[in-house]
Amino acid sequence: MQDPHIWQTALTYLRGVGPRRAEILKEELHLHSYADLVEYFPRRYLDYGQITPILQARVDQDAVFRGKLGPFQIRPIAGGKRALLATTLYDGQAGIELVWYQGWEWVRQRFSAGQEVLVIGRPTSQKRRLHIPHPEVIPLGGEPQQIHKFLRVYPVYPLTEKVRQAGLDDKRFRMLFDELYRLTHFEREDPIPETLRDRYGLLPLTESLRAIHLPTHLEEVEKARYRFKFQEFFLLQVLLIKRKYFLKSQYTAPGFVQVGPLVKEFYEKHLPFPLTEAQKRVIREIRRDMAMNAPMNRLIQGDVGSGKTIVALFAALIAIGNGYQVALMAPTEVLAEQHARSFRKWLAPMGLGVGLLLGSTPPSQKKRLMSQLATGELACIIGTHALFQKPVVYHRLGLTIIDEQHKFGVRQRAALWEKAHPYRPHNLLLTATPIPRTLALSVYGDVDVSIIDELPPGRQPIKTWVRTESHRREVWNLLRAELEKGRQAYIIYPLVEESEKLDLKAVEEGYELIRRAFPDYPAGMIHGRMSSERKEREMQLFKLGHTRILVGTTVVEVGVDVPNATVLVVEHADRFGLSQLHQLRGRVGRGEHASYAIFMAPDTLSENALERLRALAQYQDGFRISEIDLRLRGPGDFLGTKQSGLPEFKMADLIEDQAILRQARLAAEELVAQDPSLQQYPALQAYLNEYASKYSLELFTA
Ligand code: ADP
Ligand code: MG
Repeated sequence: MQDPHIWQTALTYLRGVGPRRAEILKEELHLHSYADLVEYFPRRYLDYGQITPILQARVDQDAVFRGKLGPFQIRPIAGGKRALLATTLYDGQAGIELVWYQGWEWVRQRFSAGQEVLVIGRPTSQKRRLHIPHPEVIPLGGEPQQIHKFLRVYPVYPLTEKVRQAGLDDKRFRMLFDELYRLTHFEREDPIPETLRDRYGLLPLTESLRAIHLPTHLEEVEKARYRFKFQEFFLLQVLLIKRKYFLKSQYTAPGFVQVGPLVKEFYEKHLPFPLTEAQKRVIREIRRDMAMNAPMNRLIQGDVGSGKTIVALFAALIAIGNGYQVALMAPTEVLAEQHARSFRKWLAPMGLGVGLLLGSTPPSQKKRLMSQLATGELACIIGTHALFQKPVVYHRLGLTIIDEQHKFGVRQRAALWEKAHPYRPHNLLLTATPIPRTLALSVYGDVDVSIIDELPPGRQPIKTWVRTESHRREVWNLLRAELEKGRQAYIIYPLVEESEKLDLKAVEEGYELIRRAFPDYPAGMIHGRMSSERKEREMQLFKLGHTRILVGTTVVEVGVDVPNATVLVVEHADRFGLSQLHQLRGRVGRGEHASYAIFMAPDTLSENALERLRALAQYQDGFRISEIDLRLRGPGDFLGTKQSGLPEFKMADLIEDQAILRQARLAAEELVAQDPSLQQYPALQAYLNEYASKYSLELFTA
């Protein structure tokens, strides 16, 4: 094997590049070194065996044509200062013009009219006539001079116009790989250990690189692509699983070997309803985690209304029953109050108090709560960001529960966890935003995930309509009928960050419209520009039934429980993601009454876009909807910039390649379990270091 440092060589030293092109490769494609180039993968392949009839040539579609060259012509351009070379390729049915604007002397020398050739190129159109600028022409039966000339399959790399203009067109760019291969034979240390390659049927790295860049047939390209997809998933998974191991081995948590007396008492005497099977399963998972001396880091994903709160209560009962404290943190005061109400109702019969600590709690009360926490007199505290502020000291914090965990930053979650110093508390994270399982493996790979995939019995499905503007009257009639029955309604407007002002206007106008259309029913308004006190007050007025219609943006929080609200109208539903609409739908259907979710769209909306919305009418299951949403929008948009700590995959596709992801996860788990520090795998370590620095992954746990 040659000196591995050769891979750090700057591209300017590669024959065919030079300083000017090196600069352009850097700027346009972010390629600096030999290593970067060899990892720059083709976008697709042209199969030589696959000849396109000239009649089927299309603008901007690379293709291989086969035919006979016509006579060559030289035509003056640029006012006679220069000249182009043109000829026509005929395949017996049609002809297409081939044009060279410069550097064509060699073409003229090498080819002549009547010669049988293959032509590879990308047709463009000028004055509605197709021609191929600077095609690659390969004489049939001629002397092969480059490795590529032996091949049947041509890689096509994603190049930019600037790169092409600098003289690195498809052909010359491909030739860089001939040269690189001559120098290195693509010999690199393989990050995937041989044992795993054997088990999972993966080609070695060197062979894969050769197959990707210098393929002889498409089957080997497929095998190499499989290997690289696997590698991309594998590297990320090893990183995440290593991290999970690190968290478990680095910190100690109190192990609650006994479940404690409170769980039994609650379960036998005070359980308000039979638990669903899913709830029981998740409680068992939590119970197992909390028996360990390593901190639990478990995320519970469950649709709105799936009953996460009582699952969290069981976790709390384990900790309190073992003499430790519990802190439950929610992103808003309304949600914190709601949780406090549930917990108080459930815990009061057992003589357990629940503290509520909010930003707005009066100082004297805050002081009392804080002293009760410090002495251990208070076992259960519920609150907002106030819970992790500096002056708050816990006596023995054994469990933290974080609701709507994605509303908190990594540091905020960590600040709460540090309150248990010198050990770590067990951590339970809750989210009502289900994401598809395989995506969860990548986003939440360093925590354990539990899923509540069952709703409590007797829940009525929410009647879901997709309606266009011309059906407004029908929608208002339904709304009026519900209001007359004493029910309440939400009207939601989209919020797009770039045009906050416009959105505000839309909400305000919507509010006026509603007041005029329904003068007999008090309406409230809520949006992001209001102070948090104003927002809280508007929410309270609605909860208490003083306002009957609430017009607002999506600040109407996830998890807010107003059982009397039975109608949700979402304006411009086409501007929301499906998962978000599903979340919003969870605002209704929380009581005994039949509920309606109505998604409004402009009359001009395309049939496709309407079809997308209709998926909501078809499915009530958040996981199902999130999968559809992911397919439609792709992982980046789906997760949003905020939540996505996801690296970009070059080859792998989180949607199409889920089976490979599962395999890679398995392989990574085996490897890390067998050698958590990866000491036996220096090549893998080197790759991981590079990978981690390249993507500066924001890991889920801090
Ligand atoms: P979420 O998962 O959205 O936080 P909650 O915990 O607020 O859901 O539960 C939604 C409602 O369902 C609550 O009123 C809760 O008391 C009730 N609930 C939860 N589990 C069950 C169950 N197993 N049977 C009946 N009702 C349940
Ligand atoms: Mg909840």
